[in-house]
Amino acid sequence: MTSRRSVAYFWDPEVGNFHYGVSHPMKPHRLAVTHSLVFYYGLHNKMKVFRPYHASRQDMCRFHSEEYIDFLQKVTPQNIQAFNKSLSHFNVGEDCPVFDGLFDFCSRYTGASLEGAVRLNNKSCDIAINWSGGLHHAKKYEASGFCYVNDIVIAILELLKYHQRVLYIDIDIHHGDGVQEAFYLSDRVMTVSFHKFGNYFFPGTGDMYEIGAESGRYYSVNVPLKEGIDDNSYFNTFKPVITAVMEFYQPTCIVLQCGADSLAGDRLGCFQLSIKGHGECVKFVKSLNVPLLVLGGGGYTVRNVSRCWTYETSLLVDEPISSEIPYNEYFEYFAPDFNLHPDVSKRQDNANSKQYLEAIVKATTENLKCLTHAPSVQIQDVPEDFFRLQVEEEDAMNEMLEKEKKTRVDPLNEYYDDDQDKEMEIDDPTEVPKVNILQSDVNVLS
Ligand SMILES: [Zn+2]
Repeated sequence: MTSRRSVAYFWDPEVGNFHYGVSHPMKPHRLAVTHSLVFYYGLHNKMKVFRPYHASRQDMCRFHSEEYIDFLQKVTPQNIQAFNKSLSHFNVGEDCPVFDGLFDFCSRYTGASLEGAVRLNNKSCDIAINWSGGLHHAKKYEASGFCYVNDIVIAILELLKYHQRVLYIDIDIHHGDGVQEAFYLSDRVMTVSFHKFGNYFFPGTGDMYEIGAESGRYYSVNVPLKEGIDDNSYFNTFKPVITAVMEFYQPTCIVLQCGADSLAGDRLGCFQLSIKGHGECVKFVKSLNVPLLVLGGGGYTVRNVSRCWTYETSLLVDEPISSEIPYNEYFEYFAPDFNLHPDVSKRQDNANSKQYLEAIVKATTENLKCLTHAPSVQIQDVPEDFFRLQVEEEDAMNEMLEKEKKTRVDPLNEYYDDDQDKEMEIDDPTEVPKVNILQSDVNVLS
């Protein structure tokens, strides 16, 4: 069941240096802390580490509208006044602020998910990990819920060049609305989201009656949960739903969004999952032995997000790690216990009764039985990959990390270099992908 699989891990040393704003709960810095733990646990030795591709505006426009991406590319905190009208039009402002290097940030996290998809497509790995991705709320024409560019949809479109059926699983506490909406009319992608629903919890969608429409009817699966769900209740719902999905849909590739705001003690969340409980879902999906793209997502208590994604990295590379956190540049974040698996402090009761969860599993399974077929389309005239993989860079990054380990001194900090943040990525014209999108790409978008 747990055969060792080849894992590609994307790490952009700059991606943790972006700032949404002082009081904003989304902290890209959590990515730097996660990487530090992964690195000091030595997990980079168990996978191929890549400095990811930067997505171009053309890549982003495979899903998003040109005018929205134009806006993201042009707006800065300095010129924001000139875009007054556009701000509300594109839902940019409070939740999704304009910050220094915004487009560059999007380009980096999206590029890593896209490269993950390409590497899975050409079988250069079995599992691809991009903790900086998973921004599931972004819509075709607008930003939403701290998300600007939907790297997940863009990666799935790439996977569809080679894969008949892609399964998307979302364990963030929020409904994976942006991804569901993108593929709502399609049977080529099944979206399955487990999330808190009710009492106006963001984004407000994800009722179990949202099942897809037209060709996509029964290909959207929603598991609405109430606050306080614990490890056992969650996994006892997750496992039978995913087992039924696998049986009826038979995906050839899986994308797993691992939002860590479903953990107990999250700044915005209200579930009671432990890191092991969250990881159990990742372990289970890995055991299905289907090519797998693993992404991050929400997660607003930085120390727990980094613990969680580090633990899940260890599960994905099949390398058990000690619960004692190794010394690293953010060591003090993990006080007082310095443990990878902190106690789950019980803040609230589990509002999900056994009967409620059983009823959801039953209804979901009944819907899946309505699937007439696992769709199969003829895939031909596959367009060229959007960039040529630089195979020689593979070992360089691993080697560089090893050298860095020898010379690394404390403490790195979260201050950022102003000049660097203002630098915009200028796309190398040789890297511009072909824009001939497969017919199927067009069909799957609503
Ligand atoms: Zn979330």
